[in-house]
Amino acid sequence: MRPRLPEAEPKPFFQVPIPGEEPVQGGVVTHDQFRELTGQIELAITVQSEYLFVGSGQYEFDPSAGSGCPDVWYTFYRRNGQICIPGTSIKGAIRAIVESISNSCVSQRRGQERSQIDSAPQPCKYKKDEKSLLCPACRLFGTTGFRGRVYFSDSEPDGNIQMKIVKIGELWEPKRHENARRFYEAKIFQPITNQQPEKNFRFVEAVPKESKFRVSLQFENLSKAELGLVCHALGWDVKKDKRESAFTPKLGGAKPRCFGAVKFKPIQLRLWQENILASGLKPLILQEEEMSRFLVECLQECQRSNLLHSKSWNMLMQKLKAQNEPCPRGIY
Ligand SMILES: [Zn+2]
Repeated sequence: MRPRLPEAEPKPFFQVPIPGEEPVQGGVVTHDQFRELTGQIELAITVQSEYLFVGSGQYEFDPSAGSGCPDVWYTFYRRNGQICIPGTSIKGAIRAIVESISNSCVSQRRGQERSQIDSAPQPCKYKKDEKSLLCPACRLFGTTGFRGRVYFSDSEPDGNIQMKIVKIGELWEPKRHENARRFYEAKIFQPITNQQPEKNFRFVEAVPKESKFRVSLQFENLSKAELGLVCHALGWDVKKDKRESAFTPKLGGAKPRCFGAVKFKPIQLRLWQENILASGLKPLILQEEEMSRFLVECLQECQRSNLLHSKSWNMLMQKLKAQNEPCPRGIY
């Protein structure tokens, strides 16, 4: 049984209602044509919350730990011995935002939960050799039988990162019953001063605030509006014809402890042209002002299209902004 405390702290998550209207479906874009936008955006990631934790599913322990010290802790994900945020983890987080702001199907719920939400849009079904209609998120990120057109590379640290073992209250999955998608807020982590191992607490190996990573977002055959939708999900908006960071998406685990808020910043954009092989052209490389102008065009194109569900977008953007409020320490 999940314990309940009478003085429970305010919950650090919110719900974005699933719109009543059906997702706007469209035909799939096949991979055998080379058209519209194909390329990649190099992105800098900066941790904005107190910590980021991407679990490896494993733990480590210190047999000589004295009392008042971490004894067992969950380790951060590593590839070839180096800490790393797997591309699939970034893609999952960005897809969840895209699904929400584009009124797409609900892909990431398990069967039992789904059956409780009768009115939630059913996941798209891709049928090979037929004219399949898919929602915006499935068209971009794929679904069973259909490979997506947006990927993230594994994300490597940019500079030296000092890992820290952090004590957090045990994580409880809130029940889902509303017809809504749940996201965690960006509140302020409350450290636990005593480092004593104790019941209902755990230790995690985390990356501290301001740590930096690099990642490459790769895309194939996207329209400008579709690339703009992905850019919106990275937390970007347009104000007075300039790109601005509107909120911080969340990566990794311990989100109920307000971990994982990150800022994405574009560094360089490469676009491949159709006849690159025939003509020997180099990819078009955009940076700084040129890149910003192009990304603003994509964001604006998305806002003009039917891809962005503006009510959901506005709600998500407001609620995901950093809040100067404490994140709960204990059970809620
Ligand atoms: Zn779908």
